[in-house]
Amino acid sequence: MTRIFSGVKPTGHLTLGNYLGAVRQWAEVDQYRADSLFSIVDLHALTVEHDPGRVRRLSRQAATLLLASGIDPERATVFVQSHVDEHARLSYLLECVATDGEMRRMIQYKEKAARERARGGSVRLSLLTYPVLMAADILAYRADEVPVGDDQTQHVELTRDLAERFNQRYGPTFVVPRATPPKVAARVMDLQDPTSKMGKSHEAGAGIVYLLDEPDVVRKKILRAVTDSGSEAVFDRDAKPGVSNLLEILAACRGGSPEALSGVYESYGALKADAAEAVVELLRPLRERHKELMADPSYVEEVLRRGAERAREMARPTVDGAYRAIGL
Ligand code: ADP
Repeated sequence: MTRIFSGVKPTGHLTLGNYLGAVRQWAEVDQYRADSLFSIVDLHALTVEHDPGRVRRLSRQAATLLLASGIDPERATVFVQSHVDEHARLSYLLECVATDGEMRRMIQYKEKAARERARGGSVRLSLLTYPVLMAADILAYRADEVPVGDDQTQHVELTRDLAERFNQRYGPTFVVPRATPPKVAARVMDLQDPTSKMGKSHEAGAGIVYLLDEPDVVRKKILRAVTDSGSEAVFDRDAKPGVSNLLEILAACRGGSPEALSGVYESYGALKADAAEAVVELLRPLRERHKELMADPSYVEEVLRRGAERAREMARPTVDGAYRAIGL
């Protein structure tokens, strides 16, 4: 059976980008067709300045949202990365296979390091090695597929390289995985700055729709989205990034393609109104289920405890095998 691994960082509240680019596919498709593991990758949240209490709170919130999205813990393994030691154990071995040049070429590292420096902060070494830990997350489970948004495909490519290199040097140990981004909405853009992606760890602003935003807040953010010059609601990511983003969001909510919606709307206002309602409707059941789950936090804790147990059992033989293969 195909095995799938994917994760979400508890660095902020989950956004519409996380949902359309990843979580929705996990809940609606992946868990039914594959042996799936979905992780709250909390070690990754320590790569930039963090507040310990907040990381813990956001981890529980992210887990609750995954369940609220329809991920069924009887089908999929839902767990917190730091509860399973194998991730960190394997990461070190992979650091001995990766090179520093490879790490410095990662686009996300360059962007995030530049942002930290611009704020006058220093760059944690773990920000540089982050993609190695991500490779360990995936390889420890011998995952075949990694459903992620566009922003993570370079890291999955690196994971493939490290797996191939390790297998070649030390004998067949890892499965070489591939990224499986969604066809629509693989990169949802910020509503106020449609040239940059909607990111949960970016400073909270009117351009980010959070999954737990009240319906009126969602409407307001989408109705105030930045649009482009002209008045034609056509799909053209380069010339019309704002409008294209709204078309993409609407298409993702309705299950069509943005190209099919291109030119259908007479005005930007009408497009925004439809997109706002589509997002509100899409998120309604999720918000309701989240409220129910919040009433019983011990249920979520129990899901995470069982998930970590299962994950540990799956990862241990592979990671032990890697230690032996590399000569330890
Ligand atoms: P973030 O960048 O918001 O902190 P994570 O790194 O935790 O998100 O990513 C969780 C998943 O959500 C990943 O698969 C990532 O590719 C996807 N994702 C994040 N932002 C977006 C976006 N704006 N559009 C589409 N997918 C996204």
